[in-house]
Amino acid sequence: MKQLTDQFGRTIEYLRLSVTDRCDLRCTYCMPKDFSDYEDAEHSLSNAEIERVVKAFTELGTKRIRLTGGEPLIRKGIAELAHKLAALPGLEDLSLSTNATRMAKYADDLKASGIERLNVSLDTLDPDKFKRLTGGKLSKVIDGLMAAKAAGFKPIKINMVVMKDENDMDAEAMLNFCIEHGFTLRFIETMPMGDTGRDAQSQYIDLQIIKQRLAEKFDLIPGVMPGGGPARYMNVADTDINIGFITPISQHFCETCNRVRLSVDGTIYTCLGQEHNLALRPLLRNGCTDDELKAAIIRAINLKPEKHEFNEKPEKLVRFMSMTGG
Ligand code: SAM
Ligand code: SF4
Repeated sequence: MKQLTDQFGRTIEYLRLSVTDRCDLRCTYCMPKDFSDYEDAEHSLSNAEIERVVKAFTELGTKRIRLTGGEPLIRKGIAELAHKLAALPGLEDLSLSTNATRMAKYADDLKASGIERLNVSLDTLDPDKFKRLTGGKLSKVIDGLMAAKAAGFKPIKINMVVMKDENDMDAEAMLNFCIEHGFTLRFIETMPMGDTGRDAQSQYIDLQIIKQRLAEKFDLIPGVMPGGGPARYMNVADTDINIGFITPISQHFCETCNRVRLSVDGTIYTCLGQEHNLALRPLLRNGCTDDELKAAIIRAINLKPEKHEFNEKPEKLVRFMSMTGG
């Protein structure tokens, strides 16, 4: 099996695949409230084009794919697409990141498609605060989460972006909720992606503070569950619940980065915090061969920069997280 290795010796075995840049929510740190400047429909890769690109990735050694967005459940036929991707030889793990507003409707189809693991964004259990932070209705997300649990997804991980004086005080309630329902809870530091992410930097809080506060209430055991990504996990004693800390700002993890992203317009972004990218769509639509497609993917991996510069150059990134596929 060939492997994708970048010029810093990192093996890239994980692709985050954005299936749409659209979203039904407007999380304050992600998308501007009035945003509607979406990618033209004809620039979005079709299911067949996505399948072709993912097949090329898997033949080059990619083992894990996460469907993301924007909100992936907005894409028509998402379960059929997932089903096709899940069947690709070499793919070991197909997962999904969602805001879960539409999960109640799609949970069973998505589970049947071959997706096992689910990440759900949820920053608070307070309906008014949820409305203020996202523009949406909390009850839809809770219904979606319960449907996902009933459908048998495992693990279900809750991603909570922590903002000072906004929802940092909600961490304990979120953990109790996750203990009650058997969910993993992951805390995330806000990143300066686009104007929205940069504005949210004023609410930045070091996750060490959250860890210390929780440690006063819960017995936390370090060093469990290595995981395949950047989260550092701890176990809540006497439960099978783990909590993770994702700290791109306070402790970056670029030296172990194992992923690239494909946006819905067919561009490979090699780093969340940098612009280095390669557009596959022109090749796909100009009749490239599978070997040419794979050669382009290898070229893209070689462009992957050593690290992000969120701290040094927070003004750098104009892309919103929803455009790249967070
Ligand atoms: N809509 C889906 C969701 O919310 O899970 C998938 C896409 S969303 C862009 C993926 C993840 O990016 C979410 O967990 C969200 O909280 C995170 N995110 C978006 N903007 C961010 C920012 N500026 N800093 C940190 N995380 C961010
Ligand atoms: Fe939508 Fe996810 Fe961005 Fe929130 S974080 S606006 S749910 S894409």
